[in-house]
Amino acid sequence: GKVLVTGANGFVATWVVYSLLEHGYSVRASVRSEGKGAHLCKIFASYGDKFELAIVPDITSPGAFDEAVKGVDAIEHTASPVHLNADDPDEFIVPAVKGTIGVLESALAHGTSVKRVVYTSSCVSILRIPEQPTVFSEKDWNEQAVEDVKANGRNATGLSKYSASKVLAERAAWEFVEKNKARIAWDLVVVNPPYVFGPTLNEVDKPESLHSSMDEWFKAVCGGIYNTAPWGSDGGPDYIDVRDLALAHVLAIQKEGAGGERLIISSGPWKWQNFTIAGRKIGAAIPAGNTSYDPAKATHLIMYDASKAPKVLGIRYRSIDETTRDILEDYKARGWVK
Ligand code: NDP
Repeated sequence: GKVLVTGANGFVATWVVYSLLEHGYSVRASVRSEGKGAHLCKIFASYGDKFELAIVPDITSPGAFDEAVKGVDAIEHTASPVHLNADDPDEFIVPAVKGTIGVLESALAHGTSVKRVVYTSSCVSILRIPEQPTVFSEKDWNEQAVEDVKANGRNATGLSKYSASKVLAERAAWEFVEKNKARIAWDLVVVNPPYVFGPTLNEVDKPESLHSSMDEWFKAVCGGIYNTAPWGSDGGPDYIDVRDLALAHVLAIQKEGAGGERLIISSGPWKWQNFTIAGRKIGAAIPAGNTSYDPAKATHLIMYDASKAPKVLGIRYRSIDETTRDILEDYKARGWVK
């Protein structure tokens, strides 16, 4: 079969494309310009005509994906703004929502062979910042971020603006399916990852160009610089290895029983020091961090019941040791750490 992957040059999507190709699928990779696709064409050259680019310059324009959906059996929609530094909440919300609805509209109108659509949502569309340690599940929705943006607009937090865009886009997708259920021949799966960490396959020439979650990882684990976050500067909540998330995207189109499901894809909680310990155990030249940290006594403000996805997808996740080893090997090969 053939699969359309949107935002294919992103950190997550490049691994999704790789995983699909490795599982025998043909991939149509949509990016905003030829230039953004050049690295993909290079790294996937060995797959020959099983890999092709589709240029979609503006995902918010009507009918943007009409051509890209033709002849594909499934769609993995990952394209969405991922950073925390826009003033205007609409800089996140408009592309997130219009892009998602646009893909679904094109699939409805022109995706005659489409059987499944997977939308890459996020755990930020699930969590809220609680007062007490709280376990969240697929039943939860982050109303807090949507309300922050509604009440405070540009003065809402960066995290709220990004989170609201993911809530509103995911909700729009479920509503689209509900409204059009009599007319659509495909079903929807939503995957909700927490922090995504892992080696780099997309185009990154220097640590400063690392993407948001890996930018935080590099600064913390390789630089000893810890961001402040609502859940504390010591790290958390959960994470997933980018390669496991990519495999989850493949399984999400393969498993019949995944249709209509919202799936938290998470391997569990962490603090930055867990990665530091894992890295120093294998001799990486990284800062010692908080040496008084006791992993057994760590507490987490935000936790997830992520038990559904392994049952539905039949997937096992990598450990912090494996993820850390592979990131540090990647960074060593690039000369970013010793
Ligand atoms: P990246 O920033 O690496 O990739 C984002 C992709 O979306 C890029 O292809 C980018 O294209 C595209 N994109 C962004 N804004 C627009 C826009 N306005 N119009 C068209 N395309 C756009 O992010 P990730 O790979 O980390 O994220 C991929 C998905 O996973 C996102 O949906 C994100 O919300 C989700 N996610 C990520 C997490 C993480 O920790 N990284 C955690 C949870 C969810 P371009 O290069 O042209 O800007």
